[in-house]
Amino acid sequence: MSCFDSVFVTCPHCSSEEEVQSKGGKCEMRRFQSHKVPLAIAGDVHGRTLTCRSCGKEYRLSVDGPTRVRVIAEEVLDDEEWDDGLSAD
Ligand SMILES: [Zn+2]
Repeated sequence: MSCFDSVFVTCPHCSSEEEVQSKGGKCEMRRFQSHKVPLAIAGDVHGRTLTCRSCGKEYRLSVDGPTRVRVIAEEVLDDEEWDDGLSAD
C-alpha cells in the first residue's frame, strides 16, 4: 500500500505545475499548494532535487521558513484549561 501527501510546485524554468510526493506527514493523500504546506511535509521535501516532467530541467526545493522548530513539553493541567488557552477569561 502506498500512501503519501502531495505538494504542488511550479517549475522555475517553464512554469509547469509539478506534483511532489511526501511521506513526511500523516500521509492522508492530501494535496497542498506550495505556499501553505504543513511543517512535517515541508521538512521532508526541503533540499530535494527534481526533474521537471515538462521541460526536463532540474530544480531544487527549499523551505521559506524553519525546517526545525522547538518541541515544548509542558505539564497538562486539565483538558478544559488546554481548550481555553486561546480564549479570554
Ligand atoms: Zn519545467
